Order: sequence, then C-alpha cells, then structure tokens
Amino acid sequence: MRFKSAVIGAGPTGICAVGHLLDLKLHPILWIDPCFNSGRLSSYQNVPSNTKVKLFIEFALNCNTFKEIASQNDDVLNALLATDQDSGCYYDKRYKTIKTDKGNVRSMNLSENWCIEIEGSGQKYYCDSAILATGSHPRESRQSPSETHHEITSIHLDVALDPERLGQIITEDDTVAVVGSSHSAILVLKNLSQTTSCKSILNFYREELKFAEYKDGWILYDNTGLKGQAATWARNELSKVQKIKRIKLPKEKNKEKEVYLAHLRGCTKIVYAIGFERNPLPIISVNDRVCREISYNPKNGQISDENGPLDNCFGFGIAFPEKTIDPMGNVEYAVGLFR
Ligand SMILES: Cc1cc2nc3c(=O)[nH]c(=O)nc-3n(C[C@H](O)[C@H](O)[C@H](O)COP(=O)(O)OP(=O)(O)OC[C@H]3O[C@@H](n4cnc5c(N)ncnc54)[C@H](O)[C@@H]3O)c2cc1C
Repeated sequence: MRFKSAVIGAGPTGICAVGHLLDLKLHPILWIDPCFNSGRLSSYQNVPSNTKVKLFIEFALNCNTFKEIASQNDDVLNALLATDQDSGCYYDKRYKTIKTDKGNVRSMNLSENWCIEIEGSGQKYYCDSAILATGSHPRESRQSPSETHHEITSIHLDVALDPERLGQIITEDDTVAVVGSSHSAILVLKNLSQTTSCKSILNFYREELKFAEYKDGWILYDNTGLKGQAATWARNELSKVQKIKRIKLPKEKNKEKEVYLAHLRGCTKIVYAIGFERNPLPIISVNDRVCREISYNPKNGQISDENGPLDNCFGFGIAFPEKTIDPMGNVEYAVGLFR
C-alpha cells in the first residue's frame, strides 16, 4: 500500500502529528514506533509534570480527531478534568490506553517518494511524506568522572528521577554529586534529600536557577525556567536542606575540571542532568546516496541535508524543537508538549 504520510515515533509529538494528519485527511498514515508507549513520558510515571493539567487538556483537544475520541471514551479526559487544573500531574493518568504495533525505522530513501525500511523484518513501505518525531534522551557526560578523580558510579538520570528506584540504590554512606540546575536536576536533588538516606549531596551548576513566570497569555522562560513542584521546592526548600552543598562552576570551561577535582574527593555516586540530545536518526538517503549532514528549519521543521531541503520530510518535537521569541525578545527552543 502507498501511504500519504509516515510518522516515525509515537511520543507526544508523533501522537499529535497523527491527530493533525487525520484532521487534514492526509491518510492513509503509516505510524512506526518500537513500543507505542507514548515516548519518554511513559518512563516518568513517578515524576511530577511541569505542564499544568489544563494545558495538557488544551494540547489534546487542539485536534478535532482527539476531541471526537474523547467524546466517545472520556475516562482519561474525565480523570484530568477532575484534577486541579493549575497543578501538574503524574504521567500515567494520560497515556495508559495507547497501544499498537511495534517497529523501528532503519532507513529512509527518497526517490519518487519516501521508501521506509523497518529494522529486523526489512519490510518496506512507500509514502508521500515523512515526519520524524523521534525524540531525545538524556545527554551523557563526555568526560568520565574517573578522569577527574577516583571511580564514581554514574546513575542514569531516568533512575534518579524515580524516587523509588533511587531509594533502592543510595545508601547512608553515599555522597552524591548532581550536575546541572534544570528541572530534572532539581527533581533529583528533591528525591535525594526526601527519599534517600545519603550522607551528603553536591550540586555543580553553571546557571543560576531560573523560574518560569505566568504572564497574561504567555509564559516567561517557558522552556528554560522551573515550573510546578520543582519550582515550588527550589523556592521554598532547597536552601534549607543542610546536606546539599551548591557549587557554582567557573565561567571558563577549562577551569571546571579544577573545581570538580577539588570537590569530588569522597563522592561515591554522580547524576548528570545536563540536558537532552537527539536520538539517533534512521539512515536518510536520496536516490540511495546517504545524506551526511542533517539539519532542520527551526521555524517549520523542514529537514535538509548538505545539498538543501529534502522533499516532504519534516522533523518536530523535542528532537527538532521550534525556535520561539517571547514578547520580551527572549529566544528559546520549545521543547514541551504545549506548542
Ligand atoms: C523529568 C521530565 C519532566 C518532563 N515534564 C514535561 C512536562 O511536564 N511537559 C512537557 O511538555 N514536557 C515534559 N518533559 C519533556 C518531554 O520528555 C518531552 O516534551 C516529550 O517526551 C517529547 O516528545 P517527543 O514525542 O518529541 O519525543 P519522545 O517522547 O522522546 O518520543 C520519541 C519516540 O520516537 C521513537 N523512535 C525513535 N527513533 C525511532 C525510529 N528510528 N523508528 C521508530 N520510532 C523511533 C522512540 O522510541 C519514542 O517512542 C519532561 C522531561 C523530563 C525529563
């Protein structure tokens, strides 16, 4: 079968893309994902959201197809409507119901149209257009902590964000370093201080804490400021937790190593909360020539290679965030759902 559109990825961006393609009647649609489990948010079921409940509802109902589904089966919507609309929420309420077939796109070749090949099975599909909604994962440190000092066990950010899992691996002998000052870093500091018995916590950071501010119809520092429970805890509790020591890193990056060396002695575990990076993309080619440099237009998502734009190929979501300028002229990349 020849498809009108292919959507690669079934995180919030892929779900949203499919909804809008259905609204626009750009079907049949091919939709591919290895798990169909709502992307990264499904691994954060014990993590408070930074988006308010009412914005999740607005995100979902911004699409006629989803409105129609919600009117037929409103369990999920009702659960959200019954929640305080100005608070955050936990992710499992919204996404438990979505399940479908699994697959991973290995390669995409553009000739007359897009030929999309699935890893393993080698199955090929032909589509007029392709949307990459392939997401991101937590960035790992390029430098091993043992390069700066003795052996320190690194804890994956996803584990550190889950209070239960973190509680199982931290002991009272541990001194834990947390690198970063983002939403994730603050949630990890909160988890360490509230649900583990660790001896002490070192928080290395480059930027001072920044808080999102709700203005009339827009949000200042919408993508880079702290929100929800993380913001409340950082404002009211962080400075009171005596076992947390915050260490500002010097502006000159080549001097950071000295600061780490001075403080990491005695540190047993480390968590990097230093942002996200794009998941590896499928191999993209044009007439069987592999594209070497993939880039995108941050205004409309158009994907390009070293020779220019690729026909009917777009990237959206956290892997290809839209560039936004707020009313005060601040430039940010829109990484959340409500865009
Ligand atoms: C602690 C924490 C809290 C957060 N809270 C919020 C919040 O409150 N509000 C908010 O808006 N955002 C929040 N985020 C950010 C959130 O993770 C992103 O907004 C969201 O997951 C991005 O969705 P996405 O669909 O672009 O990518 P993802 O969720 O990463 O989904 C990408 C999907 O594509 C699939 N995929 C990748 N490669 C292939 C391939 N080759 N073939 C097929 N499928 C593929 C992946 O398996 C995955 O299912 C939070 C993040 C963290 C870490």
